[in-house]
Amino acid sequence: MNRPLPRATAETAAFWEGCAEGALRYQICSHCEKVQRIPRARCVHCFKEALTWKPSKGRGRILSFTVVHRAPTPAFRAQAPYALAIVDMDEGFRLMVNVRDGAQRDLKIDQPVTIAFHEIDGVSLPYAEVEA
Ligand SMILES: [Zn+2]
Repeated sequence: MNRPLPRATAETAAFWEGCAEGALRYQICSHCEKVQRIPRARCVHCFKEALTWKPSKGRGRILSFTVVHRAPTPAFRAQAPYALAIVDMDEGFRLMVNVRDGAQRDLKIDQPVTIAFHEIDGVSLPYAEVEA
C-alpha cells in the first residue's frame, strides 16, 4: 500500500516547489514583516494579501514529538516505529516532520535539528535530522 502524500494547495504550492528543489521556504508578510507559522492566503497579523516566500536556513528545535509504534493505517506499518516532531524553526515558522532514526534516538524537547529532504514516490519531503 502506498503512503498518502501531501497535495499542494494554492497556499502551499510554493512550499512544495521549494522542497522539490531541496529548499525550505516560509511565508513572511511584506507589509508588517511578521512570519506566518503555517502558509495562508492572507497575513494573520495585518490581514493583507502581501505574503512572500523566503528561504529558511533549515535549523530549528523540537517543540514536541511522539514515537509511533502502531501505525494508524496499513500504509505506514512498514515504517513503524517512527518519530514525528513539531519543530519550531529559527525564523519563527513551524513544521511537523518525521525525525530520521527518531525512534532509535533519545529525543528531547528543545533538541536542535536540521531539515533535510528525501524523496518518496516522486515527492520531496522534509524531515528532521538530529544535530550531533
Ligand atoms: Zn502582515
